[in-house]
Amino acid sequence: MSGSGNKRETLSGGCLCGGVRFLLAERPDGVVTCHCGQCRRFHGHIGAYITVPRDTVIFDADETLTWYRSSDFAERGFCGRCGSSLFWKGDGKSEIEIAAGSLDQPTGLTTLCHGYVEDKADYYEITDGLKQFPGSSEVE
Ligand SMILES: [Zn+2]
Ligand SMILES: [Zn+2]
Repeated sequence: MSGSGNKRETLSGGCLCGGVRFLLAERPDGVVTCHCGQCRRFHGHIGAYITVPRDTVIFDADETLTWYRSSDFAERGFCGRCGSSLFWKGDGKSEIEIAAGSLDQPTGLTTLCHGYVEDKADYYEITDGLKQFPGSSEVE
């Protein structure tokens, strides 16, 4: 198991119960965390996301996929059976954010940076030395 040798061509993922399963036709650049209050409640801690074009997500199963309108400009997707937090989808955006923890291992991905650290909860510190953005990271 050497770092670069286990990079998989195609990433796949899904929820805890298997009601939602997907393949990604495109590899994302990496993982960006989100420390905002909405992600905290949705995920139970920080959010960690990959971002890919919506039309590159191929669903093998989505019968339990449920969408919750979490703000004026976005919906969050989760499994209505097992409760896994899965997606963030901004209105009118061509991309979708997928919870990195829903991906099957190994992903070969690394974490790039931290977003919305201004909203961070008080019970932990960010100590990995990666770049921190007060608001949106917008790494692209
Ligand atoms: Zn599920
Ligand atoms: Zn967030």
